[in-house]
Amino acid sequence: MIEILSPTQLPRAREAGALVADILQTLKSRCEVGTNLLDIDRWAEAMIVEAGALSCYVDYEPSFGRGPFGHYICTSVNDAVLHGLPHDYALADGDLLSLDLAVSVGGVVADSAISFIVGDTKPAQSVELISATERALAAGIAVAGPGARIGDISHAIGTTLNEAGYSVNTQFGGHGVGSTMHQDPHVSNTGRPGRGYKLRPGLLLALEPWIMADTAELVTDADGWTLRSATGCRTAHSEHTIAITDEGAEILTLPRQPHS
Ligand code: MG
Ligand code: MG
Repeated sequence: MIEILSPTQLPRAREAGALVADILQTLKSRCEVGTNLLDIDRWAEAMIVEAGALSCYVDYEPSFGRGPFGHYICTSVNDAVLHGLPHDYALADGDLLSLDLAVSVGGVVADSAISFIVGDTKPAQSVELISATERALAAGIAVAGPGARIGDISHAIGTTLNEAGYSVNTQFGGHGVGSTMHQDPHVSNTGRPGRGYKLRPGLLLALEPWIMADTAELVTDADGWTLRSATGCRTAHSEHTIAITDEGAEILTLPRQPHS
């Protein structure tokens, strides 16, 4: 089922989106060499609770994971790219960290992910991986609007990633968002323009390009959740939740206040 938000739900979606963005940027500003992934999880929990929002992750138990997730944020380091389960690991200089967070405010969900490098060392390959996912996300958002089709977004994302030299894994991609986190329609990170569901005002979509430096194959970690590159190469992931409006697409997961 594809959910179309009512005009009264859109302000709640904006609230959820801004909260997710603010939490992610606050966490990014706190991450330094030596920060433990479990601290990031605790900080995320505290900010979600403080805001009166609900975590979409802590009780989440989908077919692709093992049991309830049990944490408030996904922390994926280096070769880990999706669903990174927070664990006792202290970040090192030059680590590439992806944080993925979804919360519900007033019954509406927003979902966003950012990737960044910890510390002073900025490995060139990691910088480019992050840049490519951010460019692909921007390309997908640029073609989203009323009357456009899901395939237009998929094509824009996939073309950007391919032209940057990366192959696309189609096991996981973007998705509809609304009263729950993962809804129809699926938004593949590759596709053909002019195909698929036609976008309508009130539709919320989470667009989320992710890539691995030299492979399109994933392996599941022994923790049952964390997905890693099959070759051990580095990876990156960028995600925004957007609302289709009469005028185009509104990015909901932008921070309200400036962050360093
Ligand atoms: Mg996400
Ligand atoms: Mg998502």
